[in-house]
Amino acid sequence: MSDLDGFRAETRTWLEANCPPEMREPVRDEADIYWGGRNASFKNDAQKAWFEACVAKGYTVPAWPTEYGGAGLTPPEAKVLREEMARIGARSPLSSFGIWMLGPALLHFGTEEQKLRFLNEIARGEIRWCQGYSEPGSGSDLVSLQTFGEDHGDHWLVNGQKIWTSYADKADWIFCLVRTDKNDKYRGISFLLFDMQTTGVSTKPILLISGNSPFCETFFDDVKVPKSYGEGIPAQVGEVNRGWDVAKYLLGHEREMISGADSSDRTAALGAVMKRHAGELDPILRAELAMFDVDALAYSAMGEKFLDEVKVGKAHPAQPNMMKYAGTELNKRRHELMMSVGGSRNLEWDSEETRGGKPSRDWLRTKANSIEGGTSEVMLNVIAKRILDLPGA
Ligand SMILES: Cc1cc2nc3c(=O)[nH]c(=O)nc-3n(C[C@H](O)[C@H](O)[C@H](O)COP(=O)(O)OP(=O)(O)OC[C@H]3O[C@@H](n4cnc5c(N)ncnc54)[C@H](O)[C@@H]3O)c2cc1C
Repeated sequence: MSDLDGFRAETRTWLEANCPPEMREPVRDEADIYWGGRNASFKNDAQKAWFEACVAKGYTVPAWPTEYGGAGLTPPEAKVLREEMARIGARSPLSSFGIWMLGPALLHFGTEEQKLRFLNEIARGEIRWCQGYSEPGSGSDLVSLQTFGEDHGDHWLVNGQKIWTSYADKADWIFCLVRTDKNDKYRGISFLLFDMQTTGVSTKPILLISGNSPFCETFFDDVKVPKSYGEGIPAQVGEVNRGWDVAKYLLGHEREMISGADSSDRTAALGAVMKRHAGELDPILRAELAMFDVDALAYSAMGEKFLDEVKVGKAHPAQPNMMKYAGTELNKRRHELMMSVGGSRNLEWDSEETRGGKPSRDWLRTKANSIEGGTSEVMLNVIAKRILDLPGA
């Protein structure tokens, strides 16, 4: 038996003992997702037990080093864990922008003290983070951002506005792009971390077509951000005025996450819908479903190849943009098809049968996939320029 087979057997035994049956059911609503944070509460004992077992084992962030709260798994071991969790349908124990976005940036750019403090807090789900990038007028053209941090010796005095800040009203801390030098567009931005409870920070939820309000306008009025949180823990990640490098690195991870490249669940939901409606479907729709399946499998193969290339340091740095473009367009198509298969009953908004209109709300939510984290048009621009090297791009 190879080491990896041994690890797989151990993982199966551990999951059998620690993942409660309720945590193997598909997520039905927002309360089924545990986000952690200061004000978090568990939906039930099973969610709590599963989360605590994973924290103790380092499985909220399996590939992070043990000193930062992870399990220190190698990439092949982390893949085995993902596969084994997918095999039993285990839910993610913790959803977190800290894990998907800030963590990778801290691992790359943080000081040792920043890593020890913030990564451990993220791994234990103690602090819920939000992302302060976009501003009115600075979305795709992010580098034009205007939120300004004035140097006041021991603190930055931050003024400005962010927009589309997901879960800002529920977050404890923010990682925020702030202009700290007005004379240099690219080298005048700092990547600051601060508490959302700081005086002068306020949020206002924005209503979406899905009927939910997951994101906010975020305002900063004379917010005093201390320059240091203790020995070796500056408020900024990376150097002052070099936050653009951190921001771009983080966006690569965000795009990879949104692409769903490491998800093995791409065809499962569609398969379940098809089973329910088999026999009712017209031949054209059946053909579209078959074409989708083929494209989804091709995308999964591309995702596997990409993740393998990342592991050995051979991935093209702009490749997350390609994955994001293909993955989000595919996901939108998947939901279009699910709506077509479900027919008019899927347009229902409120009934118990549709679990509060879940199919239609999920379908409408996918419209945002090709906007959040950078739009499809912008992804195509980057692919044309940096991967295909097209003339004129
Ligand atoms: C669900 C969701 C969650 C989000 N969460 C966050 C968050 O937590 N934090 C955060 O900071 N931001 C967040 N955003 C914002 C997101 O990053 C921006 O919406 C995105 O970058 C696009 O910016 P914009 O909305 O200003 O559109 P614009 O940049 O104004 O773009 C408008 C249109 O013009 C097109 N366009 C713009 N420039 C070009 C170009 N050069 N070439 C071709 N076409 C172009 C775009 O593709 C788009 O169709 C979120 C967005 C969504 C939808």
